Amino acid sequence: MFRDGVLQPAFDQFAVRNPWTGENIDLAASDTAAEVDEAVRAVRAAWRPLRPDRRAAILLGAARLIRERAGELAELISRESGVCIAETRKETERAATNLVVAATEAERLRGESIPVPGQDRLALTIFEPIGIVAAITPFNRPLNQVVVKVAPAVAAGCAVVVKPSEQTPLTALAFAEMLIEAGLPPEHLVVTTGEPGVIGPALAGHPDIDMVTFTGSVRTGREVAGIAAGKKVLLELGGNDPLIVLPDADLGLAVRLAGQGAFATAGQSCRGIKRVIAVGAVADELAAGLVEAAAGKRAGDPLDPATDVGPLVSVAAAITVERRIADAVSAGAKLLYGGERRRGSLVAPAVLDHVPADAELVVEETFGPVAPVIRVADTDEAIRVANGTRYGLQAGVVTRNVAEFSRIAEALRVGAVNLDAGPHFDSPHIPFGGVKSSGIGREGIPYSIREMSTVKTVTLPYPL
Ligand code: NAD
Repeated sequence: MFRDGVLQPAFDQFAVRNPWTGENIDLAASDTAAEVDEAVRAVRAAWRPLRPDRRAAILLGAARLIRERAGELAELISRESGVCIAETRKETERAATNLVVAATEAERLRGESIPVPGQDRLALTIFEPIGIVAAITPFNRPLNQVVVKVAPAVAAGCAVVVKPSEQTPLTALAFAEMLIEAGLPPEHLVVTTGEPGVIGPALAGHPDIDMVTFTGSVRTGREVAGIAAGKKVLLELGGNDPLIVLPDADLGLAVRLAGQGAFATAGQSCRGIKRVIAVGAVADELAAGLVEAAAGKRAGDPLDPATDVGPLVSVAAAITVERRIADAVSAGAKLLYGGERRRGSLVAPAVLDHVPADAELVVEETFGPVAPVIRVADTDEAIRVANGTRYGLQAGVVTRNVAEFSRIAEALRVGAVNLDAGPHFDSPHIPFGGVKSSGIGREGIPYSIREMSTVKTVTLPYPL
């Protein structure tokens, strides 16, 4: 367990495997429920909020360390997650940017003064840290998923107990060491690793945890929310994000966006493009463009700088993708390119056309490098198909017709809609989160900081 600012010797350990080579990269601790309990109690006893300027200095220091060690960190992420090094280098820079934004926001966390009508009193609202935050994170983008929870927690003045995915714990531990090196007091940070069914409930249900922020699948998120009942819970769950391409679209742009959004991180991104909804006559050209984009992607060794698409996180995940593609083809879809499992968990970037809107491939969140084209007759059908899923994270629309875009933006039940950008558009400065089964609450650094704060209202006599 990462406790008291250092890795403690563990009685039980588990091996972290490289999904490309199958080799063991390192061992991580298998913490027990009793150890989690003890660590959380110790944090509760020792934690005191830091002054905002100190929070900012620590966050800036951690950003600097990430930038200094970006090369080795990117390699570690690639080795434990399988994501190609070209993308994990971007992930380290993104993580550093998130820390810098959190540092800025830490010093900008200000409330309001409210003259209370008719009472001759003034109310002041003060943001206080919510307390001890449990952060449970998924395997994909294992550095940034931890940073988007820990950076706002530190900025808000909270202590945080991180439970990274058992598939990718090493990156989280490396980042924790950097935070301590940057000056975070040890009692502000614990990282617990091990069997999720043991340490997850011990953490989420712990009476000294004030808030649980969870990113992961819908199934686990709901379970965690049940265990955490009574605490503040923020859920960032799955997505099934559409890119809607209207007949007047800039097709070059649509193909570029669809190629990026469907194949980045080998399709293992909650905000990746999971469905390409082609309205009217654009479908033929769009599908042809996507085949070209897929054929141009180099799939293979994640540590090779020329690789665009690395292996999926596990063979089981790759088999699921392969099976869903086969089922869609049996239901009438045409496989235009790729989709085969080449080696272990490496799936060749796939393009399918004429995918039935009710195929499991597009009804469920498919975490793989797949661009499924669904053909629809008009905008109304596009909206119906886009909304015809339990998910509601983000969406992209490509069109030159702003009025039509506005109609779609109003009708979609999602957290964000982007014109001439994919659902994968993001920035640390804007809100991020879903509706329906995709989640509750908003991330995005300034928004997370507020989620991790409570408002205290102080009123005083004040003649108005
Ligand atoms: P997962 O649900 O399997 O695991 C997420 C985390 O929950 C891991 O740390 C895991 O160890 C932990 N966990 C598992 N069982 C637990 C339990 N009983 N109690 C407490 N914690 C438990 O998800 P995953 O496979 O790691 O990640 C992929 C999923 O995450 C996808 O559905 C993806 O869309 C989603 N995701 C969402 C976002 C978002 O911001 N909306 C971002 C990235 C990933």
